[in-house]
Amino acid sequence: MFVCTGFSTGAADQPLGLAKINRRDPGPRDIEIKIRYCGVCHSDLHAARNEWGNTVYPCTPGHEIVGEITRVGAEVTGFKVGELAGVGCLVDSCRTCSNCKDGLEQYCENGFTGTYNSPDAHLGGMTQGGYSSHVVVDQDFVLHLPENLDLAAIAPLLCAGITTYSPLRHWKVGPGQKVGVVGLGGLGHMGVKLAHAMGARVVLFTTSPGKSEDAKRLGADEVVVSKNAEEMAAHATSFDFILDTVAADHDVNAYLGLLKRDGTMVQVGAPEKPLAVSAFSVIFKRRNFAGSLIGGIAETQEMLDFCGEKNIVSDIEIIPIQKIEEAYARMLKSDVKYRFVIDMASLPEAA
Ligand SMILES: [Zn+2]
Ligand SMILES: [Zn+2]
Repeated sequence: MFVCTGFSTGAADQPLGLAKINRRDPGPRDIEIKIRYCGVCHSDLHAARNEWGNTVYPCTPGHEIVGEITRVGAEVTGFKVGELAGVGCLVDSCRTCSNCKDGLEQYCENGFTGTYNSPDAHLGGMTQGGYSSHVVVDQDFVLHLPENLDLAAIAPLLCAGITTYSPLRHWKVGPGQKVGVVGLGGLGHMGVKLAHAMGARVVLFTTSPGKSEDAKRLGADEVVVSKNAEEMAAHATSFDFILDTVAADHDVNAYLGLLKRDGTMVQVGAPEKPLAVSAFSVIFKRRNFAGSLIGGIAETQEMLDFCGEKNIVSDIEIIPIQKIEEAYARMLKSDVKYRFVIDMASLPEAA
Protein backbone atom coordinates (compact mmCIF):
# COMPACT_ATOMS: atom_id res chain seq x y z
CA MET A 1 0.00 0.00 0.00
CA PHE A 2 1.08 3.57 -0.60
CA VAL A 3 -0.40 6.94 0.24
CA CYS A 4 -1.22 9.56 -2.39
CA THR A 5 -3.13 12.82 -2.29
CA GLY A 6 -6.64 13.60 -3.42
CA PHE A 7 -9.67 15.80 -2.89
CA SER A 8 -12.25 14.07 -0.70
CA THR A 9 -15.15 14.79 1.59
CA GLY A 10 -16.00 13.29 4.97
CA ALA A 11 -19.70 14.16 5.05
CA ALA A 12 -22.59 15.22 2.83
CA ASP A 13 -22.51 18.80 4.11
CA GLN A 14 -18.72 19.24 3.96
CA PRO A 15 -16.86 20.70 0.98
CA LEU A 16 -14.23 18.61 -0.77
CA GLY A 17 -10.70 19.22 0.48
CA LEU A 18 -7.17 17.94 0.35
CA ALA A 19 -6.81 14.44 1.84
CA LYS A 20 -4.55 11.40 1.98
CA ILE A 21 -5.74 8.40 -0.02
CA ASN A 22 -4.50 4.81 0.32
CA ARG A 23 -3.80 2.93 -2.89
CA ARG A 24 -2.73 -0.69 -3.26
CA ASP A 25 0.72 -1.39 -4.67
CA PRO A 26 0.24 -2.70 -8.20
CA GLY A 27 -0.29 -6.49 -8.21
CA PRO A 28 0.82 -8.69 -11.13
CA ARG A 29 -2.16 -7.62 -13.30
CA ASP A 30 -2.42 -4.02 -12.08
CA ILE A 31 -1.55 -0.70 -13.69
CA GLU A 32 -0.65 2.46 -11.77
CA ILE A 33 -1.63 5.70 -13.48
CA LYS A 34 -0.44 9.19 -12.59
CA ILE A 35 -3.64 11.16 -13.20
CA ARG A 36 -3.26 14.23 -15.42
CA TYR A 37 -6.93 15.20 -15.82
CA CYS A 38 -10.27 14.11 -14.39
CA GLY A 39 -13.65 15.12 -15.78
CA VAL A 40 -16.42 16.32 -13.45
CA CYS A 41 -19.62 14.27 -13.80
CA HIS A 42 -22.98 14.97 -12.18
CA SER A 43 -22.64 11.63 -10.40
CA ASP A 44 -19.60 13.05 -8.57
CA LEU A 45 -21.77 15.74 -7.06
CA HIS A 46 -24.57 13.29 -6.20
CA ALA A 47 -22.05 11.04 -4.45
CA ALA A 48 -20.19 13.81 -2.61
CA ARG A 49 -23.48 15.09 -1.18
CA ASN A 50 -25.07 11.66 -0.64
CA GLU A 51 -28.00 12.57 -2.88
CA TRP A 52 -28.57 8.93 -3.80
CA GLY A 53 -28.36 7.95 -0.11
CA ASN A 54 -25.61 5.35 -0.58
CA THR A 55 -22.39 7.29 -0.07
CA VAL A 56 -19.89 5.86 2.41
CA TYR A 57 -17.42 8.51 3.62
CA PRO A 58 -14.70 9.50 3.11
CA CYS A 59 -15.56 9.82 -0.58
CA THR A 60 -13.23 10.83 -3.42
CA PRO A 61 -15.29 11.28 -6.61
CA GLY A 62 -14.09 11.19 -10.22
CA HIS A 63 -14.58 8.59 -12.96
CA GLU A 64 -13.39 10.35 -16.10
CA ILE A 65 -9.69 9.67 -15.57
CA VAL A 66 -6.82 10.16 -18.01
CA GLY A 67 -3.11 10.06 -17.26
CA GLU A 68 0.20 8.38 -17.76
CA ILE A 69 1.16 4.84 -16.78
CA THR A 70 3.83 4.93 -14.07
CA ARG A 71 4.02 1.24 -12.98
CA VAL A 72 2.78 -2.06 -14.41
CA GLY A 73 2.60 -5.52 -12.78
CA ALA A 74 4.66 -8.46 -14.10
CA GLU A 75 1.70 -10.07 -15.92
CA VAL A 76 0.43 -6.91 -17.61
CA THR A 77 0.28 -7.17 -21.38
CA GLY A 78 -0.63 -4.47 -23.87
CA PHE A 79 0.25 -1.50 -21.62
CA LYS A 80 3.67 0.02 -20.96
CA VAL A 81 5.10 2.56 -18.52
CA GLY A 82 5.02 6.04 -20.08
CA GLU A 83 1.90 5.38 -22.21
CA LEU A 84 -1.31 7.37 -21.83
CA ALA A 85 -4.26 5.47 -20.38
CA GLY A 86 -7.81 6.06 -19.19
CA VAL A 87 -10.18 4.73 -16.55
CA GLY A 88 -13.93 5.26 -16.64
CA CYS A 89 -16.77 4.35 -14.30
CA LEU A 90 -15.79 0.71 -13.73
CA VAL A 91 -12.67 -0.78 -12.10
CA ASP A 92 -13.82 -4.41 -11.70
CA SER A 93 -16.74 -6.85 -12.02
CA CYS A 94 -17.32 -10.56 -11.30
CA ARG A 95 -16.12 -11.54 -14.81
CA THR A 96 -18.05 -14.83 -14.64
CA CYS A 97 -21.75 -13.94 -15.00
CA SER A 98 -23.40 -13.99 -18.42
CA ASN A 99 -23.34 -10.20 -18.76
CA CYS A 100 -19.62 -9.97 -17.91
CA LYS A 101 -18.95 -12.80 -20.40
CA ASP A 102 -20.80 -10.77 -23.03
CA GLY A 103 -18.53 -7.78 -22.33
CA LEU A 104 -21.34 -5.92 -20.58
CA GLU A 105 -19.64 -5.44 -17.22
CA GLN A 106 -21.88 -2.46 -16.46
CA TYR A 107 -24.77 -4.92 -16.09
CA CYS A 108 -22.78 -7.45 -13.98
CA GLU A 109 -25.24 -9.75 -12.14
CA ASN A 110 -23.08 -9.56 -9.04
CA GLY A 111 -22.64 -5.81 -9.08
CA PHE A 112 -19.75 -4.10 -10.83
CA THR A 113 -17.09 -2.29 -8.81
CA GLY A 114 -17.44 1.45 -9.43
CA THR A 115 -14.38 3.67 -9.62
CA TYR A 116 -15.55 5.33 -6.40
CA ASN A 117 -17.96 4.54 -3.59
CA SER A 118 -17.91 0.75 -4.22
CA PRO A 119 -16.57 -1.85 -1.76
CA ASP A 120 -12.81 -2.20 -2.36
CA ALA A 121 -11.90 -5.90 -2.50
CA HIS A 122 -8.17 -5.15 -2.13
CA LEU A 123 -7.87 -2.62 0.69
CA GLY A 124 -11.28 -2.87 2.37
CA GLY A 125 -13.36 0.26 2.74
CA MET A 126 -14.57 1.89 -0.46
CA THR A 127 -12.95 2.60 -3.82
CA GLN A 128 -11.66 6.17 -4.19
CA GLY A 129 -11.96 7.97 -7.51
CA GLY A 130 -10.00 10.18 -9.82
CA TYR A 131 -9.81 13.49 -7.91
CA SER A 132 -6.45 12.13 -6.92
CA SER A 133 -2.79 12.02 -7.93
CA HIS A 134 -2.72 8.28 -8.73
CA VAL A 135 -5.02 5.33 -9.28
CA VAL A 136 -4.26 1.58 -9.43
CA VAL A 137 -6.54 -0.51 -11.64
CA ASP A 138 -6.63 -4.05 -13.04
CA GLN A 139 -5.43 -4.04 -16.66
CA ASP A 140 -8.77 -5.43 -17.89
CA PHE A 141 -10.44 -2.13 -16.88
CA VAL A 142 -7.82 0.25 -18.31
CA LEU A 143 -8.39 1.90 -21.71
CA HIS A 144 -6.00 2.94 -24.46
CA LEU A 145 -6.37 6.58 -25.47
CA PRO A 146 -6.24 8.04 -28.99
CA GLU A 147 -2.97 9.97 -29.30
CA ASN A 148 -4.22 12.55 -31.80
CA LEU A 149 -6.72 14.19 -29.42
CA ASP A 150 -6.34 16.76 -26.64
CA LEU A 151 -5.77 14.75 -23.46
CA ALA A 152 -7.89 16.93 -21.15
CA ALA A 153 -10.81 16.89 -23.61
CA ILE A 154 -10.70 13.08 -23.85
CA ALA A 155 -11.46 12.68 -20.12
CA PRO A 156 -15.26 13.24 -20.37
CA LEU A 157 -15.50 10.58 -23.08
CA LEU A 158 -14.97 8.01 -20.32
CA CYS A 159 -18.42 8.64 -18.83
CA ALA A 160 -20.40 11.20 -20.85
CA GLY A 161 -19.01 9.81 -24.11
CA ILE A 162 -19.73 6.14 -23.50
CA THR A 163 -23.12 6.84 -21.88
CA THR A 164 -24.32 8.35 -25.15
CA TYR A 165 -22.29 6.16 -27.56
CA SER A 166 -23.56 2.85 -26.19
CA PRO A 167 -27.30 3.38 -26.84
CA LEU A 168 -26.61 4.98 -30.25
CA ARG A 169 -24.70 1.83 -31.21
CA HIS A 170 -27.04 -0.65 -29.55
CA TRP A 171 -30.03 0.76 -31.45
CA LYS A 172 -27.91 0.95 -34.62
CA VAL A 173 -28.11 4.66 -35.32
CA GLY A 174 -26.66 5.51 -38.73
CA PRO A 175 -27.07 7.19 -42.10
CA GLY A 176 -30.63 7.73 -43.32
CA GLN A 177 -32.03 7.99 -39.80
CA LYS A 178 -33.53 10.95 -38.01
CA VAL A 179 -32.25 11.09 -34.44
CA GLY A 180 -33.31 13.40 -31.64
CA VAL A 181 -31.17 14.42 -28.67
CA VAL A 182 -33.02 15.97 -25.74
CA GLY A 183 -30.97 18.44 -23.69
CA LEU A 184 -27.62 20.09 -24.44
CA GLY A 185 -25.51 19.49 -21.35
CA GLY A 186 -22.51 17.25 -20.69
CA LEU A 187 -24.32 14.17 -22.04
CA GLY A 188 -26.39 15.93 -24.73
CA HIS A 189 -23.47 17.67 -26.40
CA MET A 190 -21.68 14.32 -26.73
CA GLY A 191 -24.89 12.74 -28.06
CA VAL A 192 -25.11 15.39 -30.79
CA LYS A 193 -21.45 14.99 -31.80
CA LEU A 194 -21.57 11.18 -31.84
CA ALA A 195 -24.93 10.79 -33.63
CA HIS A 196 -23.75 13.29 -36.25
CA ALA A 197 -20.47 11.37 -36.71
CA MET A 198 -22.45 8.14 -37.14
CA GLY A 199 -24.17 9.74 -40.12
CA ALA A 200 -27.64 10.41 -38.72
CA ARG A 201 -29.69 13.57 -39.25
CA VAL A 202 -29.61 15.11 -35.76
CA VAL A 203 -32.29 17.27 -34.18
CA LEU A 204 -31.52 18.84 -30.81
CA PHE A 205 -34.37 19.59 -28.39
CA THR A 206 -33.72 22.33 -25.87
CA THR A 207 -35.73 24.61 -23.60
CA SER A 208 -33.29 27.50 -24.22
CA PRO A 209 -33.44 29.14 -27.68
CA GLY A 210 -29.99 30.62 -26.93
CA LYS A 211 -28.36 27.23 -27.41
CA SER A 212 -29.33 26.95 -31.08
CA GLU A 213 -26.12 28.25 -32.65
CA ASP A 214 -23.92 26.18 -30.38
CA ALA A 215 -25.93 23.03 -31.10
CA LYS A 216 -25.42 23.51 -34.83
CA ARG A 217 -21.70 24.06 -34.34
CA LEU A 218 -21.60 20.74 -32.43
CA GLY A 219 -23.31 18.85 -35.27
CA ALA A 220 -27.08 19.33 -34.98
CA ASP A 221 -28.87 19.73 -38.32
CA GLU A 222 -31.86 21.33 -36.66
CA VAL A 223 -32.78 22.74 -33.26
CA VAL A 224 -36.28 22.57 -31.79
CA VAL A 225 -37.30 24.68 -28.81
CA SER A 226 -39.34 22.13 -26.88
CA LYS A 227 -41.60 24.75 -25.27
CA ASN A 228 -42.85 25.74 -28.73
CA ALA A 229 -45.84 23.46 -29.43
CA GLU A 230 -45.92 24.29 -33.13
CA GLU A 231 -42.27 23.43 -33.64
CA MET A 232 -42.80 20.15 -31.76
CA ALA A 233 -45.92 19.26 -33.77
CA ALA A 234 -44.04 19.74 -37.03
CA HIS A 235 -41.89 16.72 -36.06
CA ALA A 236 -44.73 14.34 -35.02
CA THR A 237 -44.15 10.65 -35.82
CA SER A 238 -40.89 11.27 -37.66
CA PHE A 239 -38.00 10.06 -35.50
CA ASP A 240 -36.24 6.68 -35.66
CA PHE A 241 -34.53 7.21 -32.32
CA ILE A 242 -34.46 9.78 -29.49
CA LEU A 243 -31.78 10.02 -26.80
CA ASP A 244 -33.11 11.74 -23.67
CA THR A 245 -30.30 13.18 -21.53
CA VAL A 246 -32.43 15.34 -19.24
CA ALA A 247 -31.90 14.73 -15.51
CA ALA A 248 -34.67 17.11 -14.38
CA ASP A 249 -38.38 16.37 -14.21
CA HIS A 250 -39.91 16.64 -17.72
CA ASP A 251 -42.73 15.29 -19.91
CA VAL A 252 -41.40 12.29 -21.86
CA ASN A 253 -44.75 11.83 -23.67
CA ALA A 254 -44.05 15.01 -25.64
CA TYR A 255 -41.04 13.22 -27.16
CA LEU A 256 -42.47 9.68 -27.40
CA GLY A 257 -45.14 11.14 -29.69
CA LEU A 258 -42.42 12.21 -32.11
CA LEU A 259 -41.24 8.62 -32.70
CA LYS A 260 -42.16 6.71 -35.84
CA ARG A 261 -43.70 3.23 -35.71
CA ASP A 262 -41.32 0.96 -33.73
CA GLY A 263 -39.11 3.93 -32.90
CA THR A 264 -37.17 3.94 -29.63
CA MET A 265 -36.54 6.59 -27.04
CA VAL A 266 -33.72 5.88 -24.58
CA GLN A 267 -33.37 7.55 -21.21
CA VAL A 268 -29.80 8.23 -20.04
CA GLY A 269 -30.52 11.22 -17.80
CA ALA A 270 -31.77 10.17 -14.36
CA PRO A 271 -34.46 12.45 -12.90
CA GLU A 272 -35.00 12.04 -9.17
CA LYS A 273 -38.77 11.49 -9.43
CA PRO A 274 -40.39 8.69 -11.51
CA LEU A 275 -41.30 9.72 -15.06
CA ALA A 276 -44.96 9.56 -16.06
CA VAL A 277 -45.30 7.54 -19.27
CA SER A 278 -48.76 7.51 -20.80
CA ALA A 279 -49.61 4.01 -22.06
CA PHE A 280 -51.01 5.58 -25.22
CA SER A 281 -47.60 7.12 -25.99
CA VAL A 282 -46.19 3.63 -26.52
CA ILE A 283 -49.30 1.67 -27.59
CA PHE A 284 -49.81 3.81 -30.65
CA LYS A 285 -47.12 3.12 -33.25
CA ARG A 286 -45.72 0.27 -31.07
CA ARG A 287 -43.09 2.61 -29.68
CA ASN A 288 -40.33 1.63 -27.26
CA PHE A 289 -39.18 3.44 -24.13
CA ALA A 290 -35.87 2.14 -22.78
CA GLY A 291 -32.84 3.01 -20.67
CA SER A 292 -29.11 2.48 -20.92
CA LEU A 293 -26.21 2.56 -18.44
CA ILE A 294 -22.69 3.67 -19.49
CA GLY A 295 -21.04 0.87 -21.54
CA GLY A 296 -18.79 -2.17 -21.15
CA ILE A 297 -15.01 -2.02 -21.37
CA ALA A 298 -14.76 -3.35 -24.95
CA GLU A 299 -17.37 -0.86 -26.13
CA THR A 300 -15.65 1.98 -24.26
CA GLN A 301 -12.45 1.16 -26.14
CA GLU A 302 -14.42 1.04 -29.40
CA MET A 303 -15.87 4.49 -28.59
CA LEU A 304 -12.41 5.95 -27.85
CA ASP A 305 -11.07 4.54 -31.14
CA PHE A 306 -14.11 5.94 -33.00
CA CYS A 307 -13.52 9.38 -31.43
CA GLY A 308 -9.84 9.20 -32.43
CA GLU A 309 -10.83 8.39 -36.02
CA LYS A 310 -13.49 11.12 -36.20
CA ASN A 311 -11.60 13.73 -34.14
CA ILE A 312 -14.27 13.92 -31.46
CA VAL A 313 -13.62 15.24 -27.97
CA SER A 314 -15.73 16.92 -25.32
CA ASP A 315 -16.03 20.72 -25.15
CA ILE A 316 -14.41 21.48 -21.82
CA GLU A 317 -13.53 24.12 -19.26
CA ILE A 318 -10.37 23.33 -17.31
CA ILE A 319 -10.31 24.13 -13.59
CA PRO A 320 -7.80 23.73 -10.76
CA ILE A 321 -9.03 21.27 -8.14
CA GLN A 322 -9.40 24.09 -5.59
CA LYS A 323 -12.38 25.34 -7.65
CA ILE A 324 -14.36 22.11 -7.51
CA GLU A 325 -17.12 23.42 -5.22
CA GLU A 326 -17.56 26.45 -7.48
CA ALA A 327 -17.75 24.09 -10.47
CA TYR A 328 -20.47 22.03 -8.73
CA ALA A 329 -22.47 25.21 -8.06
CA ARG A 330 -22.19 26.22 -11.71
CA MET A 331 -23.14 22.72 -12.91
CA LEU A 332 -26.35 22.97 -10.92
CA LYS A 333 -27.18 26.09 -12.95
CA SER A 334 -26.16 24.36 -16.22
CA ASP A 335 -23.49 27.05 -16.46
CA VAL A 336 -20.77 25.02 -18.19
CA LYS A 337 -19.86 24.42 -21.83
CA TYR A 338 -20.04 21.49 -21.58
CA ARG A 339 -17.90 19.67 -19.06
CA PHE A 340 -15.51 20.76 -16.31
CA VAL A 341 -12.18 18.96 -16.31
CA ILE A 342 -9.79 19.17 -13.37
CA ASP A 343 -6.13 19.79 -14.16
CA MET A 344 -4.51 17.47 -11.64
CA ALA A 345 -1.25 19.47 -11.74
CA SER A 346 -3.11 21.81 -9.36
CA LEU A 347 -3.23 19.07 -6.68
CA PRO A 348 -0.59 19.59 -3.94
CA GLU A 349 1.87 16.70 -3.61
CA ALA A 350 1.42 16.29 0.12
CA ALA A 351 -1.70 16.40 2.29
ZN1 LIG B 1 -20.30 9.89 -14.76
ZN1 LIG C 1 -20.52 -10.20 -13.69
